[in-house]
Amino acid sequence: MAVPSLRRDKPGVAASLKAEFSRSDGRGSQLLSELLDNVLNPKRPVAEAEGLEWCKCLMAGGERFEDFCQTVRAYDHATLCGLVWTANFVAYRCRTCGISPCMSLCAECFNAGEHTGHDFNMFRSQAGGACDCGDSSVMRDSGFCKRHRSTSGSSIPSVPSDLMMMSEHILPRVIFRLVQHLRDGYSESVSDPATERDIQRTLQQMEPLVSLLEDLTKMGGAMRSILTRVLGNHQIYKDLSSGDFCTGEKTYAKKNYDKYLTALKGSGLVSSEERSASSVLDHMAGASNVTILGATAGAGQRESSDEEEQDGSQGIGKRKRVKFCNGTKDPSIVDILKHKCFLEEILFWTVKYEFPQKMVTFLLNMLPDQDYKIAFTKTFVQHYAFIMKTLIKSHESDTMSNRIVHISVQLFSNEELARQVTEECQLLEIMVTVLLYMMENCLVKSELQDEENNFHVVVNCGEPLLKNNTYWPLVSDFINILSHQSVAKRFLEDQGLLQMWMNFVSLFQGMNLNKRELNEHVEFESQTYYAAFAAELEACAQPMWALLTHCKIKDMEEYTRTVVRYCLDALQDWFDAINFIDEPSPNQVTFHLPLHRYYAMFLSKAVRCQQLDLDSLLPDQEMLMKLMVHPLQIQACLSEIHSNMWVRNGLQIKGQAMTYVQSHFCNSMIDPDIFLLQVCASRLDPDYFVSSVFERFKVVDLLTMASQHQDGAPDPEHEKSMLEGALTFLVLLLSLRIHLGMTDDEILRAEMVAQLCMSDRTHSTLLDLIPENPNPKSGIIPGSYYFENMLSAVADFKAPVFEPGGSMQQGMYTPKADVWNIEFDPIMVILRTVYRRDVQSAMDRYMGFLKQTGKFDGNPWPPYRERALLNPSYKGLMRILHCKTLHIVLFTLLYKISMDHQNMSEHILCMVLNLIELGLDNLPEESVEEEEMLGEEHCSDSWFNGTNIATNLHHIINHVRVRVPETAPEMIREPLASTSSDTTCVQSSNTAQVFSLVAERRRKFQEIINRNGSSTIHTPDVRAKTSKWTAPNSTPQLTTTILEVRESMLSLLIKLHHKLSGKQNSYYPCWLEDSESTSRLDPMQQIHGDGTTAVERILIKTAAQSRQNKFSIEEICRKVTPPIPPKKNVSDKKALDKEERRQKARERQQKLLAEFASRQKSFMETAMDIESPDSDVAMDIGSSEKQDSETVYDCVICGQSGPSTEERPTGLVVLLQASSVLGHRRRSTEPKKLPTSDEEKIYPEDTCGTAHDVRITDLQRYFKDSSCLQSVSIGWEGGVYVQTCGHTLHIDCHKSYMESLRNDQVLQSFSVDKGEFTCPLCRQFANSVLPCYPEKNEEKCLWLPCNNKTLHVLIKEVEEQQEQLGMFPVSISSVTNLSKEMESVMKDIRSTTQKKYIDYGKIPGSPDNDFLFMYSVARLNLELELVHRGGNLCLGGAGATTKRSCLNQLLHVLAIHMRLFRIDSAYNPWARLTRLTQVVDSGICDDEKPDVPLLYRDVPSLLMILALTMPQELHKEHFTCIVKVLYNLLYAQAIATFSFRFNEEEREVWKNSAKLQIMDNSEKSSEVLLSHIISELSKGNLYCASNTDQKSMITTTIWSPQSLEYSIQQFCLPFFRTAGLLQHHLFSDDLPCCQQTEEEFGMLARYLRLLPTSLNSNDEVKSFFCLDWPLPALDIVSQWCLEVTTSTESHSKQVMNLLVQDPQWSLPRLLRLPENYNTIFQYYHRKACVHCSKVPKDPALCLVCGTFVCLKGQCCKQQSYCECVLHSQNCGAGTGIFLLINASVIIVIRGHRFCVWGSVYLDAHGEEDRDLRRGKPLYLCNERYKVLEQQWVTHTFDHINKRWGPHYNGL
Ligand SMILES: [Zn+2]
Ligand SMILES: [Zn+2]
Ligand SMILES: [Zn+2]
Ligand SMILES: [Zn+2]
Ligand SMILES: [Zn+2]
Ligand SMILES: [Zn+2]
Ligand SMILES: [Zn+2]
Ligand SMILES: [Zn+2]
Repeated sequence: MAVPSLRRDKPGVAASLKAEFSRSDGRGSQLLSELLDNVLNPKRPVAEAEGLEWCKCLMAGGERFEDFCQTVRAYDHATLCGLVWTANFVAYRCRTCGISPCMSLCAECFNAGEHTGHDFNMFRSQAGGACDCGDSSVMRDSGFCKRHRSTSGSSIPSVPSDLMMMSEHILPRVIFRLVQHLRDGYSESVSDPATERDIQRTLQQMEPLVSLLEDLTKMGGAMRSILTRVLGNHQIYKDLSSGDFCTGEKTYAKKNYDKYLTALKGSGLVSSEERSASSVLDHMAGASNVTILGATAGAGQRESSDEEEQDGSQGIGKRKRVKFCNGTKDPSIVDILKHKCFLEEILFWTVKYEFPQKMVTFLLNMLPDQDYKIAFTKTFVQHYAFIMKTLIKSHESDTMSNRIVHISVQLFSNEELARQVTEECQLLEIMVTVLLYMMENCLVKSELQDEENNFHVVVNCGEPLLKNNTYWPLVSDFINILSHQSVAKRFLEDQGLLQMWMNFVSLFQGMNLNKRELNEHVEFESQTYYAAFAAELEACAQPMWALLTHCKIKDMEEYTRTVVRYCLDALQDWFDAINFIDEPSPNQVTFHLPLHRYYAMFLSKAVRCQQLDLDSLLPDQEMLMKLMVHPLQIQACLSEIHSNMWVRNGLQIKGQAMTYVQSHFCNSMIDPDIFLLQVCASRLDPDYFVSSVFERFKVVDLLTMASQHQDGAPDPEHEKSMLEGALTFLVLLLSLRIHLGMTDDEILRAEMVAQLCMSDRTHSTLLDLIPENPNPKSGIIPGSYYFENMLSAVADFKAPVFEPGGSMQQGMYTPKADVWNIEFDPIMVILRTVYRRDVQSAMDRYMGFLKQTGKFDGNPWPPYRERALLNPSYKGLMRILHCKTLHIVLFTLLYKISMDHQNMSEHILCMVLNLIELGLDNLPEESVEEEEMLGEEHCSDSWFNGTNIATNLHHIINHVRVRVPETAPEMIREPLASTSSDTTCVQSSNTAQVFSLVAERRRKFQEIINRNGSSTIHTPDVRAKTSKWTAPNSTPQLTTTILEVRESMLSLLIKLHHKLSGKQNSYYPCWLEDSESTSRLDPMQQIHGDGTTAVERILIKTAAQSRQNKFSIEEICRKVTPPIPPKKNVSDKKALDKEERRQKARERQQKLLAEFASRQKSFMETAMDIESPDSDVAMDIGSSEKQDSETVYDCVICGQSGPSTEERPTGLVVLLQASSVLGHRRRSTEPKKLPTSDEEKIYPEDTCGTAHDVRITDLQRYFKDSSCLQSVSIGWEGGVYVQTCGHTLHIDCHKSYMESLRNDQVLQSFSVDKGEFTCPLCRQFANSVLPCYPEKNEEKCLWLPCNNKTLHVLIKEVEEQQEQLGMFPVSISSVTNLSKEMESVMKDIRSTTQKKYIDYGKIPGSPDNDFLFMYSVARLNLELELVHRGGNLCLGGAGATTKRSCLNQLLHVLAIHMRLFRIDSAYNPWARLTRLTQVVDSGICDDEKPDVPLLYRDVPSLLMILALTMPQELHKEHFTCIVKVLYNLLYAQAIATFSFRFNEEEREVWKNSAKLQIMDNSEKSSEVLLSHIISELSKGNLYCASNTDQKSMITTTIWSPQSLEYSIQQFCLPFFRTAGLLQHHLFSDDLPCCQQTEEEFGMLARYLRLLPTSLNSNDEVKSFFCLDWPLPALDIVSQWCLEVTTSTESHSKQVMNLLVQDPQWSLPRLLRLPENYNTIFQYYHRKACVHCSKVPKDPALCLVCGTFVCLKGQCCKQQSYCECVLHSQNCGAGTGIFLLINASVIIVIRGHRFCVWGSVYLDAHGEEDRDLRRGKPLYLCNERYKVLEQQWVTHTFDHINKRWGPHYNGL
């Protein structure tokens, strides 16, 4: 059979081939193979559509491929989700359900699972991941979603063999084609951009093929298992790939295979064939690793020379190498690869191509297949070293790192799998070897200690590998596998591994060395330190924590012992390598001692969790002395840095000090260091330890009794600070119990208290500040239930509030009172502070608490706290408190402070007292015994006889031998003493010897060394060094003198009490004065207070220790105190105190209450008030007050006052802004809900803006354009709102002000060119000046209202005035400065909004249009004011708004302009309103459209027109007359409107029922008018149209006279309100107010003077009371109805819409948001935009109308405007409020500027989560949303938000 033509019908061929196969004579296979030779020929493009089509067809065996997929999917056995995602995907993590910390779920599985109340969060995937749902090795079953919970595998039938048969035969060839392509496309040198392009092309070409494979993986378990078989089969690979395959293609196959071998070799790898040869070489060279080591420059060369020297003892390089070789069991780890199946070679290429995304996704998609997972993991491990090598070389290492971890996390998170590969594939060896290999590439010689004889090598933190953190994928994998118990055990058991690991860790020991600059400021501040800290944390500490987790139980104690042993070995090696003997080099510090820290943390674990004997784990004394040196050096150095002794090293050294104690590092750095020092202190000789501390802190010279001393190492200015540091360190060392007995609970509590005491914290900051135990399985997981419980125990929550000025506070936690009272621990605060000011802040807050609660009024001292019980293993630590050296220091300092020596401070005294008190609280058990044991040796120097502080306190020192400079004051005074009678006595043992700390330390050191028999080797070194030490005698300029002291520590303490209290003899032993009150004897009762409190407490404790102490104190007091104790006074005072305190408490409570009330008030003001925050500086506008004299304005620029005149007008600072707020009003009082599903939608049809648009369009179709433009108002959308801050200025002053702004170099946040400025006085944003109209008071007097004119007279007068306007030129025509300014502001107003919001006329720019725009501006500003008043006028003048209004001025400007328009008197509505006209149907001419019937006209618009076209000043009686006339029309409109709401029967009833009443001639009754209007309108057949069309709309409610009256009132109210406000502004009439909303109608009717005077003020007001017809009512109503009925034919469809008006709108609201942010996020973050139909990268939502836009997207850009900006113009006329979906933040766009407003969604702790970083559930904060809405409605975004920036239309 011939090879089938490619053009043949594919399904047919496929079907026949499949049939051939079933015959099993091998013919099928041969035919297929021939076909595939053709289809998958390497000469054809790799992913040719035709070829792929063939493959699909063949696999489907003649079926449609889609059907085939369907069928295969039915056999899916997998119960895992396994969905693979790439970067930026939104996934979930649930800590409650997760077993592995890496567990993650896709949104679908998360939402379908049950996680309510769990500790979960949403996160944006960085490296990509896969869904773990269904994998019980990673998460608990209870968290599986419904889909993956069922283990329904059994119910699925097994796959029929013939279904997959074709695939089984085809797939090997498909995959081989892929491999061929990968081989062909690769070329080595990657640095060349051309080859890189080639590689990209190769990847692109094969993409369709990989997609096909990916699709296959998605077909479920059946297909995946076929793929697994193909990928893993050795035979298939051998047959196809080795080059013997393919008849006639041999040459190609060979070449292709050679390319593969070349690539293998090019990667520094050896192929399987060459393996045997290379292994021979290995043996010859000793180890393959030599080459690796040899490659590193410095260290490598050194080794070889060492080897030659045969210097065994110091050859660190050699030792390292030797160990390295021992550890590396299999040299093939790094450089040998052998591929046995497709999977292996494909992975090889995937690595080679640096993990192309497509390939990664394909490989990961296969993971749900268990066999594949195992095979793939093994392959991955096999390539591990190669992967890391490629990574180091890669220049896109970030992307590659992410892809690597994307894969490895899936493999290594599974404990079973990790264990398997650890055992079978040496995973641990590979990882450690590769880690070492990586670091070997960037080693430098260590310069620590002995620079010349240092053989230690460390990593160079300046290398890219460390700086870029390139090693993190490897380290993170390592930590991941160590988190599995079985793997960790394996690691701890293998001594070779441990040794290798310690070698690795020691590469970081001492890195990034700092040398103190003593002379000049360092030229270049190296920024390597962060790399160093990151490296220690990630590469050393994190694996340590992972290992420590597994050393928690007794069973593991052997492992701990092993680790400790290896740590000590490594440390010993290190000390040797750096040539360390006993003293650190001065002025050097490294913060990196990972070996020390390993040792410390394993020790701590051993003692705490495994109850091991500490001593069995400790080295000898000499080693302990060495161990303490470097950590102590760091502590001293911290103090030096704080004392500014390292300033010349630049800021970076401060950065290091901060990082060292910072919350993410302290657990792994400072805490182990302090602990190790505590261990050393507990075992070393206390005198040695204490003197070492003072020596390291360089304060030895300060610790002499002399008032002056020789200049020591630190400058005098640093001395005090260093001494403070040293003492503080000792207190810290003795107080801290973090590793010495505190439980995890207690630690967490103490950490939390420390952070909260420094400052109130938000939940997330606190979480971040609490040192994170890096081990996630330890139980202290931040954010867990545990954390929350602790938090609520120590802190109170302060809900988020608004601060004045509109800035929003987040929810905060503040310490409970009891915390301040009992738990506040300054020591803990000091330990955890980065800045000194944080300690101060804690103390200030503490003082505040004491003052507030009346506990203490002065400046308190840090409270002394009792400590957690010390673990007995560390009891020795307390010996420090009972050593002579410390006591001498304490005595000396007490003496110096009491003598006012220089460089002493309160802080020093505080620490001294603290140490004494600690001593008293921790007395040695064998105190009595010890005192008896006193040997001669101890008192040889006559200082103290014993070591117990309790006894030494009362020991009197009479004389002290001191060495002082000859100039010291002692030298002048002392000669007397030396010649005194008791000279001999002085010379004898009674004189304390010169005390030298250095000498003391040296002596002790020698003692220890000598005791240690083993240390013979080192003794010579020590001796050699001896000469270097500054012996006390070697300072010639000092002389020895004897100081008379005669004090004990007790006497000094009592003196200090007097000193501190500022009173002579202030101390009197309390037990003498008040014996019956035992409570006073409890010293811990007195914690809060100053120094005197502390001294008193110490004295009480001392007295309690022994009778002798008590006696001594009494004696001292007797000497200095008058004999009569002030007992009575004290108790009186106490009683008085009590009363006083009670009083104070009462006052405090009242103050608190008042404060609370005012806070509430200010909240209401800032949150709800529509005023600007600067209201208090604003002035009243003069014009709003009617005064007899002319109004005087102050100019805020020149400061002059005067009236506004025609020549020099004054103006109001105003902000003009376009507004569409009113256009967004709706009928319903409930705000629209934001849609959160496809079913929900918002229709814009029911908004006020749309309704008015429809109405004007309808009118324009049938009526004369000019008439239409007077029948409505516009500006609902894009109208201009005018607001002012109330400040006035001369307009010429303003012009020069603008000029100066223009020349100002400072960049303004506003654009001066657009006329923008800020008010010179209150800084409120503004953009124009509104001229003030000069008042003519004489005129006003002339026009005082007189009430006796009849309506007829008034109508006449109005008409006359209206006509005047056409005849007389108005004053504005004569050009003055004022008129120019009025014109200019009118121009500003017009240009504030877009043209489309002005031009409604058919002829663009017609004067009718302008006229419409101007009265609409007046209307809009009135309506907006109404909205600001809450939508009604019930509150009247006392309403919410006392806002400065500029409406009066605005109305003047508008009126002056409107009068310029000559309205043809033929169209003047006044005549039609007040007269019966003859020519009713004159409108129906041939081409002329008729006028708009009066019944269609908008009455408030008519009011504006009539009021603003009257000459100024308008008289009130004329205004009232206009309102009366218009009310009649409005009433008729109301009746007509309601008549349409009746059904036919009702209408008939109403029509007839009133007929009788007509006889009564009661024209005013609504029934009569209703009946009349119904019959009049019936003539035009209007109701018929409505009956047929609108039946469904008719309400079912039955109309009663009461409901009719109510409806009429409601209909008329909007007009009343507008008219009322207009009257208020025109005539400055105070607005009335009423109690209930029902009274509003009557109240306004009275205010507008519509009611007859006869009406009693208490009578109920009916709407028809206000009617006042100038003509027979029925006649004029008939005329109005006729206007409608004569024109109906033309627009019968619209009659209903035009005639039925509904003037009521609810207040503008933003969309209603769902409670939970997730509802929004889930729907919108993957929703496609309707314009570009893509899912936007930054989606945003308009909160006004719900439109979904692409923020910043190029996709939806129109003429350089991005979609968001565009929408802000269309939706809000330049104002837009957008919710950024991916950030949960709201931005506000205002014109060309924008600002980030903040978030209205807060988490459970009242915090924002910008960019959803924490991913915790967020809930709507209604208060904040209300504030947002308020700012929108009141147009105050510009004033309240401060941070505006230009958006350049790019949002
Ligand atoms: Zn899933
Ligand atoms: Zn699931
Ligand atoms: Zn859960
Ligand atoms: Zn001025
Ligand atoms: Zn102002
Ligand atoms: Zn919108
Ligand atoms: Zn879009
Ligand atoms: Zn778009």
